[in-house]
Amino acid sequence: MRKIFIILPIIIVLIIMSTIVFFLLKFNNTYLNNNYNNEIEVISVEGLTIDLESEPHSELFELISNYIESNSNNYVFYDNDNSVEEYVILENIFNIEFHISSIEDTQYLKLVNRQHEAVNTNHNLIVPAANHITTSRNNERIHISLLTALESLFYHAQREVGHLTLISGFRTYEEQMIIYNNSINNSYVMPPNHSEHQIGLAADILPIRYTSLGSMRGTSEAIWLSHNVSQFGLILRYPNDKYDITEVAYEPWHFRYVGLPHSYYIMNNHLVLEEYLELLQNIDELKIELNGKIYTISYQTPNNGYIFVPENNNFWISSSNLGGYVVTSWKYLWGKKNV
Ligand SMILES: [Zn+2]
Repeated sequence: MRKIFIILPIIIVLIIMSTIVFFLLKFNNTYLNNNYNNEIEVISVEGLTIDLESEPHSELFELISNYIESNSNNYVFYDNDNSVEEYVILENIFNIEFHISSIEDTQYLKLVNRQHEAVNTNHNLIVPAANHITTSRNNERIHISLLTALESLFYHAQREVGHLTLISGFRTYEEQMIIYNNSINNSYVMPPNHSEHQIGLAADILPIRYTSLGSMRGTSEAIWLSHNVSQFGLILRYPNDKYDITEVAYEPWHFRYVGLPHSYYIMNNHLVLEEYLELLQNIDELKIELNGKIYTISYQTPNNGYIFVPENNNFWISSSNLGGYVVTSWKYLWGKKNV
């Protein structure tokens, strides 16, 4: 009888340990790195409204600034949409409740080019499941959002134009250095720290019937891709007539994930990321209607460390690598036809 008291806990511990090992093995292949290391803290102010049109209340801002100064991260300031009068702000000025939470900097619109380095990157990488998309090498890693887009893109391409392969996804600094040092033509290859591949949001895609990227120019797949990638949140990053801006020669195989509706606007207006970010910097906001939603996009440079975002959760943020953030928010257009 006494034996059972010794054996039973051992058996239980063994069962628990083997279950843990099983799950570790099962998920380790898929989720290599799933932590968000570029989080921005969000501050919301309970019961207070700041009129964005008027001069912000200095004491309130001083209070917030002091808080921000004592904490080193980036901050986003929630715009509370209740209509509360200025005198309420004055009455409550010294009785503010801060609510701190974290949101991810998606980096979807982060500019990486010959002038702007791929610093502070968010390596939210994943290895595609073999049965979902074809890759040219084992353990190719890409950003999880790019993978989702590619799965959908490859599926539609296969039905409409032909089978595609992912040739190159995420690259480390060392991998980019090797490619750069071995490259014959530097108008295609970026120096280390200047490649979008280093943020995991770029993909080189090739029709499976070809073996070299160079043979892709003018193929039916290249044409199909340039017409269809925007639906999946992707853009053709280096079009053939934008060399003076991108400083990269035409690459029909290189696509960058920027997310919807940005991809749609960029491709429809025949822009490149550099031009799009410049446009956003020069306007208050951009409104885009797409798939039953109305999007509001604004570029904001942090003021004392904070930017304004909507109170609800229908928004995401991306650093631009130009000092500001792109805030993308949306509302549903109920009853309206899809675009
Ligand atoms: Zn590429």
